[in-house]
Amino acid sequence: MINPFENALRQLWGAAKVGEFPSDLIEKLSRSEKEITVTIPVRMDDGTLRFFEGYRVQHCNWRGPYKGGIRFHQNADIDEVRALALWMTMKTAVAGIAMGGGKGGVVVDPKELSVSELERLSRGFVRALWRDIGPRVDVPAPDVNTTPEIMAWMVDEYAKLSGDQTDATFTGKPIGGTRPQNRQGSEGRGAATGLGGFYVFDAVRARAGVAEGASVAIQGMGNVGGHAAKIFASHGYKVVAMSDSKGGIYNENGLDPEEVEKYKEEHHTLTGFSDAKEISNAELLELPVDVLVPAALENQITDQNVSRVSAKLILELANGPTTPEADEILHQRGAVVVPDILANAGGVIVSTFEWEQNLAGEHWEEEKVLTKLKETLVPQADLIWQRAEEKKVPLRVAAFIVALERLASVQGQAV
Ligand code: GLU
Repeated sequence: MINPFENALRQLWGAAKVGEFPSDLIEKLSRSEKEITVTIPVRMDDGTLRFFEGYRVQHCNWRGPYKGGIRFHQNADIDEVRALALWMTMKTAVAGIAMGGGKGGVVVDPKELSVSELERLSRGFVRALWRDIGPRVDVPAPDVNTTPEIMAWMVDEYAKLSGDQTDATFTGKPIGGTRPQNRQGSEGRGAATGLGGFYVFDAVRARAGVAEGASVAIQGMGNVGGHAAKIFASHGYKVVAMSDSKGGIYNENGLDPEEVEKYKEEHHTLTGFSDAKEISNAELLELPVDVLVPAALENQITDQNVSRVSAKLILELANGPTTPEADEILHQRGAVVVPDILANAGGVIVSTFEWEQNLAGEHWEEEKVLTKLKETLVPQADLIWQRAEEKKVPLRVAAFIVALERLASVQGQAV
């Protein structure tokens, strides 16, 4: 098993060395400020009681409240959540938003639960955690397998327990329904991670030697991969492969992501999709494409398969999809890896806009949200590209250096 937290620490220390940051700063950032493990009792539909383990890791709040999603996954564990929390600290710093880094996880395969069991689990997690979160303290959001509906249950449970009326403790909430408009989710949040990824891609594309209309393979069809596929296709890119957690499909002439999504909604699988070859998730990574977009889980591109990964540009919409060993090999062969802490920052940026709207009692038009997203993200992509060139380092190292400079200027003082 590859430990994502060890990988995150290697990235952190590697960049610190290049940037010559003081070891005190890096020692602090190598630890979580607070780690909470909870037990969530859930009454199942058949009357039995089951216990689920959940985590919230609060990594660093020097730049603002802890911020980051909650994932529901059978393989979630504390080291994974620690890594994801550390990456959130770097991501919010790269984005230049006034937030810190945190992450949550519950060990569960949500596909095995009924909707009401899922609701009780979501509310139970908040009951176990509510004293440790809040609009100025820690602001969770969706991540793998968690949805706007789950955020609605969570924010409702939080309001009941705490009396807070702002709805600003959770982001990624639904739009519509009966809640007052100014306490809902933000326009644009659903597509934000995929769209932000496309803005970053577009900013670096030509410099990375990738042609407009290039071929793209996308691993993952959750909120991130699904939107990314549609956005790439609508900008004239040839999306040749898509996949879900069970496997994928490939057509070298291009797929229509809308059709693929419709098929998946109806059949709950990609198997049987006409006019495409069935492939595994491992095969998807090795396709002869210009652009590879991992948008699922960590540790997909490793020393085991990197020699067969041929894409020129890898846009990390997942968190931690490339191991440090694979990163090094990709860099040596001249591939451009656009790192997660830049490529997928669109989600947390629009989450922060949602939080601002909730606190101010406002609801912004979609156009305003997307314009602000682009204005926030593209200058950071340009800056990180420049830094990478100046220092002759990969984009990930440059992104960590930019984040560390911002963290160093506000670092919590030792007593
Ligand atoms: N889970 C997303 C991420 O990994 C979004 C976090 C947020 O919106 O706070 O960046």
